[in-house]
Amino acid sequence: MQIKRMAVVGCGTMGTGIIQVASQVGIEVVGVESTEEGVVRARERVGSGLDATVARGKITPEQAAEARGRYSIGTDLSTIGGADIVVEAVFEDVELKKRILGEIDTLVGPETFIASNTSTIPLVILAGATSRPERVVGLHFFNPVPAMKLVEVIKTPVTAAEHVQAMVGLAETMGKSPVVVNDVPGFVGNLLIVPYLLDAIRAYERGVADMESIDSVITLGFNHKMGPFRLSDLIGLDIVHDMAASMYEEYRDPKYFPPPLLKQYVRLGWLGRKTGRGFFTYDQ
Ligand code: NAD
Repeated sequence: MQIKRMAVVGCGTMGTGIIQVASQVGIEVVGVESTEEGVVRARERVGSGLDATVARGKITPEQAAEARGRYSIGTDLSTIGGADIVVEAVFEDVELKKRILGEIDTLVGPETFIASNTSTIPLVILAGATSRPERVVGLHFFNPVPAMKLVEVIKTPVTAAEHVQAMVGLAETMGKSPVVVNDVPGFVGNLLIVPYLLDAIRAYERGVADMESIDSVITLGFNHKMGPFRLSDLIGLDIVHDMAASMYEEYRDPKYFPPPLLKQYVRLGWLGRKTGRGFFTYDQ
């Protein structure tokens, strides 16, 4: 099945990236945010994402103009009705996601796929909130979506094989390199990266070195593009916190327990790049 129409529910960091890339490859996209301010922010983000992609020479101004004509963003969830796939990208909160998936399920046709961009929440929990568990999958895009090639396609024991293939095809159409992964909390990417990020924060808390120095060890010594503190700021400290909490809930292993410093930053509203301040400060 070819995906021609997509809906994206939750148009923050990830949702706007997904809207941008889908509209660039010819998919009609409807985005849904919870507030009017969220809609304004999301429109700005997709627009500036397209501008940046033109500036990098990846698409022409004409292609960007065509992409702009393919998406709309609003607050009315019922606009998702005609979609072939709905991608949910709201906060990493299991109860919120279950509620949203339940609502989505009532608004779309029986053939429509429902995908979640969750970072850590088992897909079976989300699939169980719908009447179509065999059509619920994980499409775990990476941040920033226009730049990152990887999409983890998460299948559960009840995902039909042809539906997995349809998702692989969609990811490829979007210019991505999909990897099919089983439904374990954190999948592959966050199963490995979240304990690493938390260990870095704990190392700082223990006074091993300052944040800049810990980042330098990783960038200079291991050739990573970013150290754990800049990477956490890029992901969003609230998201890192919520991923850790969700994985701790599943595994009950202290390596996933959110460190106090992370909690404090989130409570202060220092969420990383998206708020201009996290472990480091950024020009907005
Ligand atoms: P974000 O905070 O930037 O965006 C979430 C958006 O959802 C916000 O704009 C919010 O207004 C909106 N929202 C909340 N409730 C809503 C509702 N009821 N209806 C419509 N919109 C609603 O978060 P994000 O970083 O984009 O993360 C979204 C999802 O993607 C999470 O599950 C996260 O774990 C996952 N994810 C994040 C990253 C990352 O690096 N940030 C990477 C991969 C996956």
